[in-house]
Amino acid sequence: MKKDNKKIKVAFPHMGTIYIAWAAALRKVGVEPFIPPYTSKKTLSLGTKHSPEAICLPYKLILGNFIEAVEGGADYVAMISSPGICRLGEYGACIKNALSDMGYKANYIELTLYDGIKGMYNFLKQISGKNDPVLFLRAIILAMRKVFILDDLETKLSYYRAREMTYGEAEKHFIKALKIIDGAMTTRQLNKAKKLAFAEMDKTKYNPNKEVLYVDITGEIYLVCDKFSNQDIVKELGKMGVQTRKSLTVSSFLKDAIIPKAFRKGETHLQRANRLAKPYLMRDIGGDALECVSDVAYANERGIDGIIHISPFTCMPEIMSQNIFPAMRANCDIPILPLIMDEQTGKAGYLTRLEAFVDLMRRRKRKIQQQKKQEEAIK
Ligand code: SF4
Repeated sequence: MKKDNKKIKVAFPHMGTIYIAWAAALRKVGVEPFIPPYTSKKTLSLGTKHSPEAICLPYKLILGNFIEAVEGGADYVAMISSPGICRLGEYGACIKNALSDMGYKANYIELTLYDGIKGMYNFLKQISGKNDPVLFLRAIILAMRKVFILDDLETKLSYYRAREMTYGEAEKHFIKALKIIDGAMTTRQLNKAKKLAFAEMDKTKYNPNKEVLYVDITGEIYLVCDKFSNQDIVKELGKMGVQTRKSLTVSSFLKDAIIPKAFRKGETHLQRANRLAKPYLMRDIGGDALECVSDVAYANERGIDGIIHISPFTCMPEIMSQNIFPAMRANCDIPILPLIMDEQTGKAGYLTRLEAFVDLMRRRKRKIQQQKKQEEAIK
């Protein structure tokens, strides 16, 4: 799609590092990605000002991203849509109306997530004005491969951050690694970039023998993946010597919703959710509730030190899952910290809760280790 011989600029909302994958798919089909400034307090205040008061936090932040994108010169704003039972299904129409009420002229375009590859194909066709199946397939594969690499890099970052010798070193290498992945535009370049990016991460000086805690992070996917909305929980925990694992990631979502069954390996997150959540929640109630309930059981099964559940204030599915956790205590002996976030959440109180939780997990771990030692001595 071209405007006065200029490329159309298309903006997507932020959610962690996903902008790198979107940008790759758009560039591949000849469309210019417009990457709005990363979500900030300004984004939040813009979004909040023009949103219904009780709507969930991701809506406010996405709207804020779009306002900043349009004011920065984006011609199109692209939003994902899903037919879910929760408010996500309404986001598209509400955002479109809000932007038009504010007098912005930007065009609005939707990507229907649950149409899988077909939905992505149609989106690229519409946005590029081309009809080139081979090119679109290459763009989709490139973007999806980037998503998997980015998630693996985050896992690496979490490992090194909890053990690094100099505070901030792992993150410095991570930022360089992201730039390397961002620059790759073909399969061959991406293969090379992947090796370089992981080699960059491996430059971090760390103590492999440091005793760390292991914590899973579950909750509403936007909050789990987006560091602004979760107040960079992974970084804060890393500073306290905690290695985290995000239970909800974009790559796990792709395996469930986009990648055809024939190309998947092993059990997907949704398949595991259906298996492990069943005793507590019989069916999908929208959002990520089913996955969150199963994530508690999965974390317990692996014997890790704790699980944190993050959800936006007024998120209906996550209110349900938080109310199921107490009933899981009979079978799941794992510390759970529920955190509810909104635009009023202050940093100091939030950090105090994290510190107290880490302290609790540390004492519990020591107690378990002592008990084991005593049992072995008796044998
Ligand atoms: S899952 Fe919760 S936060 Fe996300 S769109 Fe639905 S209601 Fe809102």
